[in-house]
Amino acid sequence: MMDVPFWNREIETAERSCLRRLQLQRLRDTVGWALQTHLYKRKLGQAGIHAPDDIKSLQDLRRIPYTTKDDLRLSFPKGLLAVDMTEVIRVHSSSGTTGIPTVIYFARDDVDNWTDLLARSIVGAGATPADVFQNMMTYGMFTGGLGLHYGAERVGMTVIPIGGGNTKRQIQTMKDFQTTVLHVTPSYLLHIHSKLGEDGIHREDLALRKAFIGAEPHSENTRRKLQDLLHIDAYNSYGLSELNGPGVAFECVCKKDMHVWEDAYIAEVINPDTGAVLKEGEEGELVLTNLVRRATPILRYRTRDLAFLYPQGCDCGRTHRRLSRILGRTDDMLIINGVNVFPSQIEERIMKIPEVATNYQIHVDKKGVLDRLTVRVEICPKLFLGEATVLEALKRKIVEELRSSIVISPQVELHEPGSLPVFEGKAKRVVDERPKD
Ligand code: AMP
Ligand code: ZN
Repeated sequence: MMDVPFWNREIETAERSCLRRLQLQRLRDTVGWALQTHLYKRKLGQAGIHAPDDIKSLQDLRRIPYTTKDDLRLSFPKGLLAVDMTEVIRVHSSSGTTGIPTVIYFARDDVDNWTDLLARSIVGAGATPADVFQNMMTYGMFTGGLGLHYGAERVGMTVIPIGGGNTKRQIQTMKDFQTTVLHVTPSYLLHIHSKLGEDGIHREDLALRKAFIGAEPHSENTRRKLQDLLHIDAYNSYGLSELNGPGVAFECVCKKDMHVWEDAYIAEVINPDTGAVLKEGEEGELVLTNLVRRATPILRYRTRDLAFLYPQGCDCGRTHRRLSRILGRTDDMLIINGVNVFPSQIEERIMKIPEVATNYQIHVDKKGVLDRLTVRVEICPKLFLGEATVLEALKRKIVEELRSSIVISPQVELHEPGSLPVFEGKAKRVVDERPKD
């Protein structure tokens, strides 16, 4: 019999009927908070929902209109704020934006509830206060860093808030502090593995035993590869900043896909074309409702992530349903080494530059284990035949312009006018050549 660790056994193994009652009560609370915001006062009002009591059963969830990324953008900066600003203790935003950011406010109890979900996730994946936790996710407005940081502290782990990048330092730190648990994107962990040994630090010098991997799509094969190469257990971690960040769904020690914490979220899967709610087991777009966030309540958010919910339970005894790994996206968002990038962000920036002509292409492939983003742009004919130093300067200018918008530095290639593919219908700007495993 597998030894199953729990953070809050009562809630994690609660009867489904009890969970549903709790969901209904919290959905009503959330509707009450949402009605304090400009966005939902309008949206809920149009659906005939004017007070929490208008929600009589969980079936009434279906009366609530979906919320989209555009709703959030158009609500910037405070259209989704449900409390007085004096109550807000933290602000986060999404790592990928097409201009206007989406901003999420947290009151003190929102941070507290989120932290608890992460503590639950961490313990559920078998980590303990005896572990040394190296958090390699980016800190800052991105939720991956601080989210897990708080959760790990609550569990009582020794937290190393190293953040992303600087591979040599990461490896040295793993050795110096005998790190046992990592939080990292799968692509970066593969990269770290490829660098082991370069400075004389080998796997046997490290004490690694687990990794929480997330923030980007990856396959079961990638997980297995990481486990085999590094002799660790790797657990999938899913979340998005609109719904707090990490801690929406997390794998337990059974490693059979992720439990969605259903006391804090309502998960639905819908047909992305018709909006119809699908049955358990059917693949579609994941829609999430936040149940315990007062400052920025979000109802029926269309994540654009494709997945399915399992109809049956899990060997660990948790009653919260499991979510498959993310199988794709309904939109064109690219995830480059964990960072969200929309092609429209790239277009917006390069088209501002007068030397750039009209055609461009976004190319994504792998260099070693890391994603590589290359932006190919056609430039004005006069320039193309000009001096190399001018071309170099232009390249740098484009890189800088893009970096200020998409956070990462792409490769930039300058092309002769008329040399990139031309499309008669809808242009296919993105060529993604990353292997699908
Ligand atoms: P962000 O709002 O910056 O946290 O990005 C959230 C998006 O990252 C999600 O909507 C997913 O598309 C992606 N993502 C996060 N975690 C995972 C995961 N474990 N597997 C696949 N995609 C993920
Ligand atoms: Zn389980």
